[in-house]
Amino acid sequence: MQSETLEKNPPVYRRVILKLSGESLAHSGERGISMDEVTAIAKQIKAAHALGCQIAVVVGGGNILRGAQFKGTSGEMIQEATAHYMGMLATVINALAMQDALENIGCATRVMSAIKMDGVAEPFIRRRAIRHLEKGRIVILAAGTGAPFVTTDTCAANRGLELDADIVLKATRVDGVYSDDPEKNPHAILYRELDYDVVIEKNLKVMDSTAIAQCRTHKLPILVFNFKKDGNIVKAVSGQKVGTRISPRSASGERILVNAT
Ligand code: UDP
Repeated sequence: MQSETLEKNPPVYRRVILKLSGESLAHSGERGISMDEVTAIAKQIKAAHALGCQIAVVVGGGNILRGAQFKGTSGEMIQEATAHYMGMLATVINALAMQDALENIGCATRVMSAIKMDGVAEPFIRRRAIRHLEKGRIVILAAGTGAPFVTTDTCAANRGLELDADIVLKATRVDGVYSDDPEKNPHAILYRELDYDVVIEKNLKVMDSTAIAQCRTHKLPILVFNFKKDGNIVKAVSGQKVGTRISPRSASGERILVNAT
């Protein structure tokens, strides 16, 4: 059965970072965690992993708390740095939910936290994370980078480089990168391919700017795609046509800006 699947969907990527926002773990428009949503994603991750792709998942925390939400609203009650640490702890809660969802469907996993948390998760150690991936474990990366004032997008880019991933897969609720917000502008154009410079110049909403800059410097491609469509994570890891791919300019320096047809 698995070899049939392999023939139909040959894995293109050997190792990927899958960035899931915290909101992807909740019902649309709600906060907190819905195990239905988490399990639906876990099933897609399992199917992608079964193709032979090594997967490290970076989870966000926005369904619970983002550090920036306290800025200017709570006076001196919560310092901004403290709020960011709270946001990182939110990602640990999400990581544990994702771990159980994956293990309930028979996947071996490890949660690795950038903030030391004995008894809850292993510490993130690069070489150990790579070993887990090689042994076929799905690694869930919690607590972002462990440093405040950045987001888990930056963590996905950093870990992508550290773990020598082939690509960062950024799972979103829309089909890819648009010229404008597709939920507000029905004429917004969906792009199929872009280079990093176009993303930066047009200020397109892909990932935070630090993450884009890092991927650009190190030529780490990004695929922005809609995880809500069942089967899209499998398509993403096997290089099928889905979402928007962001990569360096061509060898001759040509700009890349291809609309979806
Ligand atoms: N965060 C942080 N450092 C990191 C990663 C995350 O300080 O390396 C904090 C930050 O406040 C962030 C929050 O944790 O807003 C939750 O992460 P994020 O906003 O990336 O979650 P998402 O939007 O992906 O759900």
